[in-house]
Amino acid sequence: MKNTRILRLALMTAVVLIAACGRPPVERADLILTNAVVATMAANGPRAEALAIAHGKIIFSGENSRALKLRGGSTRVVDLGGRMVLPAFQDSHVHLVTGGVELGLCDLNGLRTKEEVLAKIRQYAAANPGLAWVTGGGWDLPLFPQANPRKEDLDAVVPDRPAFLNSADGHSAWANSRALALAGVTRDTPDPAGGRIERDPKSGAPTGTLRESAASLVEHLVPGIKPGDYIKGLRAGLALANRFGIVSIIEASANPEILDAYAALDRSGELSVRVEASLYVDTDRGVSEVGRLAGLRRRYAGKRLRATMAKIFADGVMEPHTAALLEPYIDRPGDRGTPLLEPEAFNALARALDLAGFQIHVHAIGDRAVRMSLDAFAAAGRANGFRDMRHHIAHLELIDPADIPRFKRLGVAANFQALWAYADTYITDLTLPILGPGRSRWLYPIGSVARTGAVIVGGSDWSVSSMDPLQAIQVALTRRDPDGPPGEAWNPEERVDLATMLRAYTVNGAWLSHDETSRGSLEAGKAADLIVLDRNLFAIPASEIGRARVLLTLLEGREVFRDPSFKN
Ligand SMILES: [Zn+2]
Repeated sequence: MKNTRILRLALMTAVVLIAACGRPPVERADLILTNAVVATMAANGPRAEALAIAHGKIIFSGENSRALKLRGGSTRVVDLGGRMVLPAFQDSHVHLVTGGVELGLCDLNGLRTKEEVLAKIRQYAAANPGLAWVTGGGWDLPLFPQANPRKEDLDAVVPDRPAFLNSADGHSAWANSRALALAGVTRDTPDPAGGRIERDPKSGAPTGTLRESAASLVEHLVPGIKPGDYIKGLRAGLALANRFGIVSIIEASANPEILDAYAALDRSGELSVRVEASLYVDTDRGVSEVGRLAGLRRRYAGKRLRATMAKIFADGVMEPHTAALLEPYIDRPGDRGTPLLEPEAFNALARALDLAGFQIHVHAIGDRAVRMSLDAFAAAGRANGFRDMRHHIAHLELIDPADIPRFKRLGVAANFQALWAYADTYITDLTLPILGPGRSRWLYPIGSVARTGAVIVGGSDWSVSSMDPLQAIQVALTRRDPDGPPGEAWNPEERVDLATMLRAYTVNGAWLSHDETSRGSLEAGKAADLIVLDRNLFAIPASEIGRARVLLTLLEGREVFRDPSFKN
């Protein structure tokens, strides 16, 4: 009480002194950017032509002439010659550490045919003769019949050692005969809870593909990743993120090894993104997880690192029928997929996490998993009061139309991976045939959710797919293959406009991380987290957005990426 009074007195004295001496001295800028097209993303969407930055913060946003008045002896002035400036991006669902680690393993991401995949594995095995196992991943499900690669194909390119390779989405794994034999996986091995061993329909023998928890039958034998590999992987991930204009992320699923890597680079000053980590929840352990997670949250609070989210996997993925649906898959009568936890357990877990102040981040693909997640958030709100928790659901591949208005109503953010929202082979070959046309209308319904006024945020799910936000933004606007020839839009009623998507990757991301008062838009007082682009996104066709390049990325006013061609 006494201290408060003294403090108040001191403040009043300070105010009187400033008033007595006239105006406080004008702060001089460290950096002034002029002649830019600045989309500030502030409320009401004002544009600006200049920004002034001091001590890592924006001190002015507006006209060139007024910005230049803040020039001092050591101010750097950069004429951007009409280029676009945006707040730097937030990727709200990315696996930055494990994605980076994968870059150093047998990396199959982006390969377009089965032959390319097998050639790459053969080449990697030959180049790494000393490795006891061939590991890595990134193979795309549609490259194999029924999304089901065979052990015989892998045996042909890795005959001498066990091989174990994750799919790009991380929900399937491919093992060769050596690996299956070492793990003792045979026709007599039962499917583990929450997993499936793909089998030959006649003999019942494992074919080489392991879904969800069945992967761990082999994976526990794979030599572990060393702490140094995580740190090396994170460095690679950070470089890529900054190149794409990303300086804030939500790590999608963190265990202590991943958190250690972030913490190490946070301490050394190398962490060039702000990290909000989603702590992986072992749903089998249920509410008893909360105490452990609270310990991690305390331990991993750093300068740019926080761990205040909890990640729950509600189901698997659509293509191998592990997503939880309200109605059966049409090719498997009676099979609606299996959620990874029962509704009662989900509600109890959500209540306990919410009560402990955790912001919940759910993986939900099927419409039943999405409904269960919304139900769990509603149960948490009823039990603990509807506070401003900003829980969110990622992926949202299929949403029942009845659930679309519930996001806004419950204050739940929709975390979309918009790069997936076009008719690629995952959709045409593996998803449409098992869902049928009626339900398929509601695949990735970004427009419908946005029109309810719910908060939309954007994430890449890298290394599942490209980390480039501009590619994802293009697809959200066009619903077409970003690399393909012009064609018909897929579910065109779900298209959104550019401003909606830019908000998703900037201000809405900051809001999701509870940082909306300190960053996310380019306004005086906020962090100077910004990017310079080579073209004005509002002045080009939507089909060209993915070709735009980030020239410069600033985090708190400091350069974390510069394109070599950018000399200003
Ligand atoms: Zn993910």
